[in-house]
Amino acid sequence: MATQELPFGRKYESGVNWITSIAMAVFHVGAVAALFYIDAGAILTAIILWIMAGMLGIGMCYHRLLTHRGYKTYRWVEYFLTWCATLALEGGPMFWVATHRVHHQKSDQEGDPHTPREGPWWAHMGWILMGKGLHHDATLLRRYVPDLARDPFHVWMSKWHWTTNVVVGLLLLAFGGIPYVLWGIFFRTTWGLHSTWLVNSATHLWGSRRFATRDDSKNSWWVALLTFGEGWHNNHHAHPTSARHGLAWYEVDFNWMAISALRAIGLVWDVKVAKITQAVPHEENARLDLAGEADHEAVA
Ligand SMILES: [Zn+2]
Ligand SMILES: [Zn+2]
Repeated sequence: MATQELPFGRKYESGVNWITSIAMAVFHVGAVAALFYIDAGAILTAIILWIMAGMLGIGMCYHRLLTHRGYKTYRWVEYFLTWCATLALEGGPMFWVATHRVHHQKSDQEGDPHTPREGPWWAHMGWILMGKGLHHDATLLRRYVPDLARDPFHVWMSKWHWTTNVVVGLLLLAFGGIPYVLWGIFFRTTWGLHSTWLVNSATHLWGSRRFATRDDSKNSWWVALLTFGEGWHNNHHAHPTSARHGLAWYEVDFNWMAISALRAIGLVWDVKVAKITQAVPHEENARLDLAGEADHEAVA
């Protein structure tokens, strides 16, 4: 791209983003504190919220619907799933989707927001704590998410994404007390954040490769279990628009099961599904084929 690009990658490391870092520290302290308030109801509530945020929200909506448009659904379903996604505390839809589209465009090359080639720690959470790319420049973001920028709901949610956890947190405080807040908000979001970050760090480092993609993406069963199916990341980089990431019968993909269930009851249609035998589309590789990657071998 000739004009301005989002300032992503290690060369845009900019010292500590204090607001984000303090918030992260507080959430980690709260997560540890939860361990001193064991309460079955609070833990069950956290599990339900984790499924809402991580599966209905991040996996099924931010990723497979909003970023890659792997299936179609009604507006109200999209908006409800987006609301769930904001509970994950991973930012609003415009920021998340723009970041992830850049990741696919430049996977493991310069400009990738979070490649472990620039350090596993950087890929995991360093880019969030110290990267410049988190600066929310709406005009810059718009170039990457013109579809979302046209929708007032997504624009509003992108600005006020953090309010959903405030509302849910206050409800938990009112009806369950402190243990419910510690488990349902602090432990649950911290757990969910590390699970998602493992997709950026671990699945670009460890695992097996089925498809010869031009990046380092791998399939990782344990990351898949932690993320409702997002760990089948080599399958995903090979076929980004497929709403199904676990392509073999043994590749458990809860996000895909839930999308299939919604299709069965008529809430989802036009679902894109890759086949395990399908070759990596050349045109998708060509888009990724940027200059300066001569040392970047494809694995057969
Ligand atoms: Zn990736
Ligand atoms: Zn993706």
